[in-house]
This record gives sequence, structure tokens and C-alpha cells, in this order.
Amino acid sequence: MSSAHRFDRGHTDDLMTFLAASPSPYHAVANTAERLEKAGFRQVAETDAWDATTGGKYVTRGGAIIAWYVPEGATPASPFRIVGAHTDSPNLRVKPLPDTGSAGWRQVAVELYGGTLLNTWLDRDLGLSGRVTLRDGSHRLVNVDRPLLRVPQLAIHLDRGVNQDGLKLDKQKHMTPIWGLGKPNEGDLIRFVAEETGIAADDIAGWDLMVHSVEAPAYLGRDQELLAGPRMDNLLSVHAGTAALIAATASEGLPYIPVLAAFDHEENGSQSDTGAEGPLLGNVLERSVFARGGTYEDKARAFAGTICLSSDTGHAVHPNYTERHEPGHHPVPNGGPILKVNVNQRYATDGSGRAVFAAACERAGVPWQHFVSNNAMPCGTTIGPITAARHGIATVDIGVACLSMHSARELCGADDPYLLAAALTAFLEG
Ligand code: ZN
Repeated sequence: MSSAHRFDRGHTDDLMTFLAASPSPYHAVANTAERLEKAGFRQVAETDAWDATTGGKYVTRGGAIIAWYVPEGATPASPFRIVGAHTDSPNLRVKPLPDTGSAGWRQVAVELYGGTLLNTWLDRDLGLSGRVTLRDGSHRLVNVDRPLLRVPQLAIHLDRGVNQDGLKLDKQKHMTPIWGLGKPNEGDLIRFVAEETGIAADDIAGWDLMVHSVEAPAYLGRDQELLAGPRMDNLLSVHAGTAALIAATASEGLPYIPVLAAFDHEENGSQSDTGAEGPLLGNVLERSVFARGGTYEDKARAFAGTICLSSDTGHAVHPNYTERHEPGHHPVPNGGPILKVNVNQRYATDGSGRAVFAAACERAGVPWQHFVSNNAMPCGTTIGPITAARHGIATVDIGVACLSMHSARELCGADDPYLLAAALTAFLEG
């Protein structure tokens, strides 16, 4: 379905701003929190005692954020409606002793984060972002958003077979970015980061740094019906979920407590204190019940009535590789959000979930599509099945169809982010 300019581009313009301003999960959390604050949400600390007040609240922990809105009239047993997503994307991350080099080049030692499509990081102008931890335990965001590093590809003259035999990259030897000339000096990168952020280098006690493409997101295509940009897996869903949560708070008589849960570490299996496999979401929901005077029984009742729509990117049909896709299920850009099905529970969707998602799309007036893998192709997974199993919460896997998933620059339909947000809003409103 082609639908160029069918919708106001305001949502997608705003997504482009969010993507560009969120090179790391820590930035994604800060930018989400800022949007929530503007909408009247208030941060609560995990270390404080929580109270029974109504309204919008959120908790942040590293690269994760959980936000919820307690409407007037909510009871301790009121069920939740959760939009799940993740803040992290595959990339290159700075090693503990970063200063390295070879043959007169200064380089930065990196680890590979998640299922990185390595070739897409070659010959790009890369910036540096993340956070530093100061001696007092506080954090500062870092964003050097200009061409600073590059992983240069070997010239074709020195790799004559590359186009016939395919590009072969050694993960340890070939992915080390250059960032200047001269001899590597110990402490150089962190001194540079200190200067860039206006902190004394001696105050920096730890860091979580990564590289990002500095190229801005852009509309693409004959009618600009596509969107090219970094980290759409899965900041597209974080952004849509934030917009949906804020929109849902305007609705009168909410029968559910709407929640946004954006986790870190999805790209490497979600096993961390800020990942979906950890207790963060369960703790927040449980504490929210208890803070409103609820008992264990209330919590069990609330969880039993709770539904999670877990939103993440999926594969649009690739015109040059149609044989890799399921021939009867071809999601296309701008065809609306996708319902992701895998009977082996790589996705948590079942028939009941399909009904919930279809009802939300119908209420929002949004078209939607099915995704299922070709039986000969292994299926990816996401936080949906983890949320379902960890918390015993009914979960439906959905998302947006993209090309070039896990590339440093992905591609999706320019209308789909808006369509997803509209469906998520209808879901949260019940
Ligand atoms: Zn993802």
C-alpha cells in the first residue's frame, strides 16, 4: 500500500529529532524523561518510599525507563496496559583500555555490541556518545556529535576478490576505528572526553561509551515515502510508546493503568538489571500496587488482567531477496504496524493477542499486517516472550516493518511510526 503524505508528517519529524538526539540508550532515556516531564510526569526514585498519588510517574535506571499513569479512580487491583520496547541498538563500544594504534595511526579499541551488521559501520563518519561516571557516583551524558572516528574499508586494489567472494571481516582485527595520527597515549581518549564534556579527567571514574553515525535521519524515495535513519530498531517504538502514553493520559475514565517499559540490553539477550529479563518492570508494577494500599491478592488480580504490547522492528519484504521471506506474508512499508507470530514462542503472540491488537488498530482506524518467518529461516526474537514468561503477563509481539535491520542506518516507511503510535494509543486507552 503506497500512501505518500497521507498523514501529517509531524510525528515522523519529531521521531527524526528524537533519533538524532539519542545516540546511546542513556540519551534515549534522558530524552524520553524530558518529554514525559513536559507532559506533567514526575520522576520517582527507586530508593524512596512511594505514595498513593495519582498522575504520571517514571523510574529510570541506566538505559531503561518505566513510566506509568495512575488515573483518578484507579483501584489497587486495576490492571495495567503496557507498551514494551528497548533503547539499545547494535553498535561498537569502547573497551576498558581504549587507547591503541598501529603503523602511525591512533585508534580506539572497541567491543561489538549485539548482532551488528559489521559492513554498515565501514567508511562512515562516526561520533562518540554514552555516559561517564564521576567519582561521586553521578553520571554525565557524553555526545561528540561530529565526525571523529572511522572504520576504513580496505581499498579494492588490496582486496581484489571482495566483490566476488564477499567481504570477510575479522571482528578483532578489522573493526578498530581510527581517530587520528600519531602514537597512542594511555588516557588520551578519556582526557578527550573530559575536555569535550567540561569535566576534569581525574573526576572520571568509569565510562560506558559507544560510537554512532553522525549522518542525520532523512526522508527518502520518489515521494519521500520512506525514512532512513539510525537506531530505528528500536527507538522508533520507544518514541511511539512515549507519544502514546502521553496521549492516553488525556483520555477520561481510563479503565487501565497505562505503562511504557523501555529496556536496555535487548540486543544481547536482556539479562541485566536494566534488561527485560531482570526484575525492574515487575518491581515497579508491584510497588505501584502496594503504594496504593494493595495486597498480594490485588497484585495478582492486576497482573492477571494486564496485557503487554511489545513493539520492536520486523522485516519488510526485501525486493532483491523475496525468497528469504514467507511467500504468503509480505509486510510492506506504510502498510501499518505488523503483528509478529511464531508458534515456537520466539514471539509471544497468540490468537487472543491477535484479537487485542486488531481491536486497537480498528479503534485507531489503522491498517495492519501479519509477519511470520519463512520456515527455512531462523526467526529473531525480542522482549515479548521474556516479559510473558518473567512476569506471567499476556503479551503480544508487534512492530514496524523495516529493511536493513541492525544496519548503522535502517529504512522504514515514513507513515508507519505514526500508524504505530495511533494503534498504541488506542491500546493504552482500552
Ligand atoms: Zn529490536
